[in-house]
Amino acid sequence: MTTKAGEPSAGNAALPTESPDPTDTAATRLSATRGGEKQGLAERLALGLFILLPFTALLAAVPVAWGWGLGWTDAAITVSMYFLTCHGITVGYHRYFTHSAFKANRPMRLALAIAGSLAVEGPLVRWVADHRKHHRFSDKDGDPHSPWRYGESLPALLKGLWWAHMGWMFDEEQTPQLTYAPDLVRDPAIRRISRLFWLWTMISLLLPPLVGGLVTLSWSGALSAFFWGSLVRVALLHHVTWSINSICHAVGRRPFRSRDRSGNVWWLAVLSCGESWHNLHHADPTAARHGVLRGQIDSSARLIRWFELAGWVRDVRWPDAQRIAARRAA
Ligand SMILES: [Zn+2]
Ligand SMILES: [Zn+2]
Repeated sequence: MTTKAGEPSAGNAALPTESPDPTDTAATRLSATRGGEKQGLAERLALGLFILLPFTALLAAVPVAWGWGLGWTDAAITVSMYFLTCHGITVGYHRYFTHSAFKANRPMRLALAIAGSLAVEGPLVRWVADHRKHHRFSDKDGDPHSPWRYGESLPALLKGLWWAHMGWMFDEEQTPQLTYAPDLVRDPAIRRISRLFWLWTMISLLLPPLVGGLVTLSWSGALSAFFWGSLVRVALLHHVTWSINSICHAVGRRPFRSRDRSGNVWWLAVLSCGESWHNLHHADPTAARHGVLRGQIDSSARLIRWFELAGWVRDVRWPDAQRIAARRAA
């Protein structure tokens, strides 16, 4: 029905059919998240809180930075945590777990699952299921987050952008995980990591103040590290990730052929760790590199290359010149 984790064909073509195998009774009892397939009110309230609090901090960051400045300790913690968790999403959640752009050894597989979980973007299996569904229907009926959902007029697009950016997460209907991510649901360690999402969230939020407090040996150092390294960092990464769903499906250059409205948005390349070369990604979803043209910065691809050289990942699907040329728009 679908590919196993690490098998080299989980792109658009290899996605599972809409309904899970009804005979698979053992598997239907498994769940990789604590909630069910309908999102309850409490879950939605918690989600709202986890979005609103960091966002408020992001807004407050401007006057705080203006008034008191941003110290070197906080800056170092914030930047490190930002790029650790951003690559956890891009290399781990996205290119590896969703699209199998490479195979990873066991420690690397688990490390990527945890690094991605630290981004506070939801449990691994839910993220992957949503994203595979996005590729299956991209910008058509069934896409969980297309900005074109309400139509093509300007008011419809503005409403659609809001939906694609954040609104979709509050939808009561959840993507069925067994249908879209059976390979991950059936891996007990991955299921456990996914269910422990609350723990990774705690660690992600508490690590910056711990380091900040220890470095400065002060409570105020812990507090400011929490503000910058936890709240502001989480909010910034949230909005950058969501911008791939909203902005990169509304604007940007389209040098490659894809079935949707995905575009390459250069000004998001550094902050999104190379994910904003989104047109190429939809044209060739399993490729390990998204920024394939000259000058297109893609730090995730660079990192995957280093992991490959270290021997931690293998069978990396690097797009060669011929493959890239074949996907060029006419
Ligand atoms: Zn997309
Ligand atoms: Zn993708």
